[in-house]
Amino acid sequence: MPLSDLPIEMQQHIWAVATHGKHVPSPNTYNLTDLLHCIRKAGFKRKLCKPLSLESAYNIFRGKIYDTKCSSCFTDNQKRVTYRCERIPHSITGLYDFITSDNPPVLTDLKTTKNVYFTNEAIFEYQKQVRLYAWNASVAHAQIIYMDFGDAEIFPVKIYSDEKPLMREIEQQAVALYIAEKNGYPPCPQYSGLCSKCEYKIECEAYSQ
Ligand code: SF4
Repeated sequence: MPLSDLPIEMQQHIWAVATHGKHVPSPNTYNLTDLLHCIRKAGFKRKLCKPLSLESAYNIFRGKIYDTKCSSCFTDNQKRVTYRCERIPHSITGLYDFITSDNPPVLTDLKTTKNVYFTNEAIFEYQKQVRLYAWNASVAHAQIIYMDFGDAEIFPVKIYSDEKPLMREIEQQAVALYIAEKNGYPPCPQYSGLCSKCEYKIECEAYSQ
């Protein structure tokens, strides 16, 4: 059944929850999550705010349910980490879900999915994300937990003693985005399997011709 068949009150609630408290980044801040993927998309996202589809809103809604119910069990939760770029006057920020009170503590990010049965490993970009959260928060262990409404799967993520090379890789993405924005053109496309679902596909193709 498509989500659009849900009663309108439920659809409105999903949209309201999904868009409530949306973080608006300051002009000189880049979102870590955006830099892990295609920076052309990140550039479009910063300039062209598109309305959320019901499916996208539902994905955010589902994630927020878990975030609210699970992260709040931990004292250290929903903290923002910020990295100041060395080469441009911008910062890179992101929000981790929680740090467990285990000994040693484990920085944890929750991901929700339709069905964890089909998740064999944590997406590589998500691994990079938690590595950088952990490194910036000075935590030596990290994990990603995938959850659906009936099951869960935990994937430990290896944290290296020096994550500066990874941070530099992400900063390079930030620099490319910064230069493109300065010059007023979209950054180079970074094609991947995600392009078919990209909400900026039409704009991207228009610039690529
Ligand atoms: S279609 Fe692909 S290359 Fe183009 S902006 Fe979207 S993700 Fe990037």
